[in-house]
Amino acid sequence: MKISIPKGTKDILPGEIEKYKYVQTAFADMLENFGYSQIRFPVFEYTELFQRGVGDTTDIVQKEMYTFNDKGGRSVTLRPEGTASVVRSYIENGMSSNTQPVKLYYDITAYRYENVQKGRYREFNQLGAEILGSDSCNADVEVLFMLYSFFNGLGIQGLHLNINSIGCKTCRAEYNSILKEYFSDKTDNMCADCKRRYITNPMRLLDCKVDKCIEIAKDAPMLLDNLCDNCKEHFYNVTAGLDEINIPYIINKRIVRGLDYYVRTVFEFIAEGLGAQNTVCAGGRYDGLVEQLGGTDTPGIGFAMGLERLVETMKNSGFKFPTAKTPVIFIGYIGEKAFKVARTIANELRLKGIYCEIDINDRSLKAQLKFADKKDALYSVVLGDAEIDTNKAIIKNMKTQETKEVSIDSIVRRVVENII
Ligand code: ATP
Ligand code: MG
Repeated sequence: MKISIPKGTKDILPGEIEKYKYVQTAFADMLENFGYSQIRFPVFEYTELFQRGVGDTTDIVQKEMYTFNDKGGRSVTLRPEGTASVVRSYIENGMSSNTQPVKLYYDITAYRYENVQKGRYREFNQLGAEILGSDSCNADVEVLFMLYSFFNGLGIQGLHLNINSIGCKTCRAEYNSILKEYFSDKTDNMCADCKRRYITNPMRLLDCKVDKCIEIAKDAPMLLDNLCDNCKEHFYNVTAGLDEINIPYIINKRIVRGLDYYVRTVFEFIAEGLGAQNTVCAGGRYDGLVEQLGGTDTPGIGFAMGLERLVETMKNSGFKFPTAKTPVIFIGYIGEKAFKVARTIANELRLKGIYCEIDINDRSLKAQLKFADKKDALYSVVLGDAEIDTNKAIIKNMKTQETKEVSIDSIVRRVVENII
C-alpha cells in the first residue's frame, strides 16, 4: 500500500530548497553582523516548558501542541516555537553571567496541530532571534531596523511593519477589566474561540480573524490609550527611534500577539497579497519570561518569521532566486580504460570544489551526451582509447558549440583556472 505524507507537512524538493537555503543563509549572515550567534535546541522539550513559557491560555497550548508521553512516562511536546527553549537554555547554561545582552538566533522546524490551509502547516520552518538582558528601547529599535533591512534586501514589496504596545502587568490588569466590561454583553454573538478568550485572555478578543468578531471588536477600548506612564514613555522612545532612522511603521492598536509572555512593544510584519495568513514575522518584548521560567529577572525581546510565508512573499514580489547549480563540465567516456581516466579527472575536479558530472549508469556515449545536456553542463569532453593514447582531447562549450583541443593531463588545471 502506498504511504502518503502526514497532513500539514511537506517535502521541500530540489528546485524549491534552493530558495529556502538562500533565505536561511541571508538570515544567518545578517544576524551575525548584528552580533547574534546561532543556537540549536531540541525538537522536543518537557511539556511544562511550553505550558509555563508560552502560557496556558494561548491557542498554542490549548489546542495546537503535539504532546505525548515518552516510553519513560514523561510528557514531552514537539516545539511549537523557539522562544521558550532559548530562555530555558539561557537559564540552564547560566548565560546571565555572560556579557549582556546575549543575542541568539535560530533556524528551526516547529510543530502545531493546526487547521491546515495555505500558509498554515503542522510542520513549518521558523527563523527567529532573541536579545536577552536589555530593557532599552534601543534594543527594540535595533531589532526592527534589522528586520526592515532584511526584508528590504530580499526585495519584498508591500510588507508593512505594524507596531503596538500592550503595556506591562500593571497597565494590563486595569485594562483587562475595562475590556471585559465592553465585551460582557457581546460574546453571545462571537465565535467559540472568542467565548473562551473572554474568560482566559480577553486581550485576544481583539485579534480574532472571524468577520463577525472583528465587527464587534471594532469599537473596543484600546490598550495603547490606557498605558501607564513608564510604558507610554518606552513606546514613545521606540517610535521616535524608528523615526530618526527612517523606518516606516504603522501604529496598529489591534496587534496583541498570541503569546502570554509579551509586554510593551509588540509588532508584526504584514504582507499584502498573502490572504488570511499574511503575518510573515511577529515578535515583541517579554521582560517577565526569564523569571517566570525560574531565572533571575531579565528583560528580553525577540521575533520569529515563517520561512514558508516569507518565500511565498518573495515569489509574489518577483524575486529572482538563485537556481540550482549546474555542472561546469561533463566528462564522457567510451570503454573501460577511458572510464577510469575520466573518473579520476571528475573526482579531482570535485575535490577542488568544481561541480563536475560523469555517467555512472553505463550509458552509451549518445545517452551520456543527452544526460550532459539535461544537466545543463557548460563544457563537455569525451575520452576514448585514441584520446588516451595521444593525450589529446576536445573540450566543447555546450552553449556556443566552440571546441578546443587540449592535453588530457591539463584538463583539471584548465577548469580550475578557468582557462578552457
Ligand atoms: P497566526 O496568527 O498566523 O496563527 P501566530 O501568532 O500563531 O500566527 P507566531 O507564533 O508569532 O504566529 O509565529 C511567528 C510566525 O511563524 C508567524 O508570523 C508565521 O509567519 C509563522 N507561522 C506560525 N504558525 C505557522 C504555521 N502553522 N504554518 C506556517 N507558518 C506559521
Ligand atoms: Mg497561530
